Amino acid sequence: MRTNFFRTNRIFFTIVTVFIIVSLINSDFFIIFVGAVVIFTYAAFESKCPSCHKFFGKKLLHKKRISERTIYKKVIKKSVIEHPSGETTLVREPDVIPVTIVEFINHYICRNCGHEWQHSYEKSL
Ligand SMILES: [Zn+2]
Repeated sequence: MRTNFFRTNRIFFTIVTVFIIVSLINSDFFIIFVGAVVIFTYAAFESKCPSCHKFFGKKLLHKKRISERTIYKKVIKKSVIEHPSGETTLVREPDVIPVTIVEFINHYICRNCGHEWQHSYEKSL
């Protein structure tokens, strides 16, 4: 499985290797190259297929809004009171605000093997 994973993502590992070699030769851009490798690696793992483990295989088919609910969140409200004398006072008081939580379900397909999967997540609006 381990060998397959490296073979499937040969292009990815080649690019990362090139990045590392270039950053070692040209140390002026070391930080930029390291940043590029981190972003590239994150994008690769984020878009990995759970079935064939191929990087950049994930493709969004559709996104569906499945539920919506309102919760009440405790916050500290800050306000500035201005006195006639010109002085200001910062007042902190507890408050409750409504927050809408929306649940989404994303449907993905793999470009490589055709495997389909779903991912649900919540987002506060
Ligand atoms: Zn796949």
